[in-house]
Amino acid sequence: MEINNDVWELSRVVFNYPSIDNHAHALLRSEFRDAFQFEGLITESQSTRGLTEDAPTTLACYRATAQLAKLYGLSPNSDWESIKSFRRAAQYENLCRSCLEPTRIQCILIDDGLGGGDRDKLNDYSWHDQFTGAPTKRIVRIETIAEELLMKAMDEQIMANNVVPGELWTSFEARFTGALSALGQDPAVAGFKSIVCYRTGLAVAVPPDKSQVERVIMTMILVYAARRTLRLADKFVNDYAVNVAMRVAGECDKPVQFHTGLGDSDITLALASPALLQPLVKAYPGTKVVLLHAAYPFTREAGYLTSVYDNVFLDFGEIFPFVSADGQRDTLKQVLELAPTNKILWSTDGHFWPESYYLGSVQARQCLFEVLEGSLRRFELTLPQAVGIARRALFENANRIYNLGLEPRVA
Ligand SMILES: [Zn+2]
Repeated sequence: MEINNDVWELSRVVFNYPSIDNHAHALLRSEFRDAFQFEGLITESQSTRGLTEDAPTTLACYRATAQLAKLYGLSPNSDWESIKSFRRAAQYENLCRSCLEPTRIQCILIDDGLGGGDRDKLNDYSWHDQFTGAPTKRIVRIETIAEELLMKAMDEQIMANNVVPGELWTSFEARFTGALSALGQDPAVAGFKSIVCYRTGLAVAVPPDKSQVERVIMTMILVYAARRTLRLADKFVNDYAVNVAMRVAGECDKPVQFHTGLGDSDITLALASPALLQPLVKAYPGTKVVLLHAAYPFTREAGYLTSVYDNVFLDFGEIFPFVSADGQRDTLKQVLELAPTNKILWSTDGHFWPESYYLGSVQARQCLFEVLEGSLRRFELTLPQAVGIARRALFENANRIYNLGLEPRVA
């Protein structure tokens, strides 16, 4: 009998406690609400076949379909196509509100560094304040800043008809360090993020091989002069940018998030394991590193680093709703195998569509409840311990690690 009371109390906390979403992206502006294929909600595949024919047959999609049908008030037998047509016809502000309200997110940390033309399709980070109790904070993507400043330095030399690689690099170095330091002091910035995993992989050299500068700059400047755009995808430059960010972030006490594991076909999977970050983590012991996306499928490696390095923390987002319910429970269990529960953080990885915030929240709470309930029923955890884990994972750890200074608004 008593265990049932404990389970009830645990469910009350897990499903109601406010949350801090430590990693998400902006929602699409209403005029661009259908700019991307909605299947991106449940798959990282980018091929037409993968999106339209394969993704709707995943367990993740079947579950998302049922949960969204319920949210929209549609028949439980609705299929994926009826979900899509319902949302196409829905009033956008209402759709955003009905997806965000049940999440109980008190504060969102938004990575607003999406590059290229797609940035104009997104709302500004502060637009999301209307759905939360506390102002949204920014997570600054270091590769975006580096690209902008490198293009600026190149433009100046090209305009002056005087390309000197060594000087170009010196001027870029100074600006990049200065820009990151200024951002690190900005109270609207909660931390930094690196997507080096997407570019040249997580085996970041410490320190980067500086003898490469001249070669790299000449190649980059030629490409830039021809294309008038620049993508940071040279191992020396990317590793360099990460090293600078790690140093500056440590000085300003701002965490650096790293995309690890789960991503699209752009990622070299063999270079996406957080184990490759070990030299970097060791070289900057004063800089907090947040491993994103549960590092799925390298979750155990991430838990290992989290347990042995004081400066490593583990986010267990993005698996909601991308992974099946069984996969989510297994992944969370792997997170908890080694990682101290004062070092784990939750996120939605919400992006573009408000449904990503909704599913990222309800599925994570469900998963957290089921995993903790199992331990409670087997007497491996007491009720206060299980409740403490839930509060820390949803709110308290992010609040402390990012120095947000928030008070949980318990309903
Ligand atoms: Zn993300």
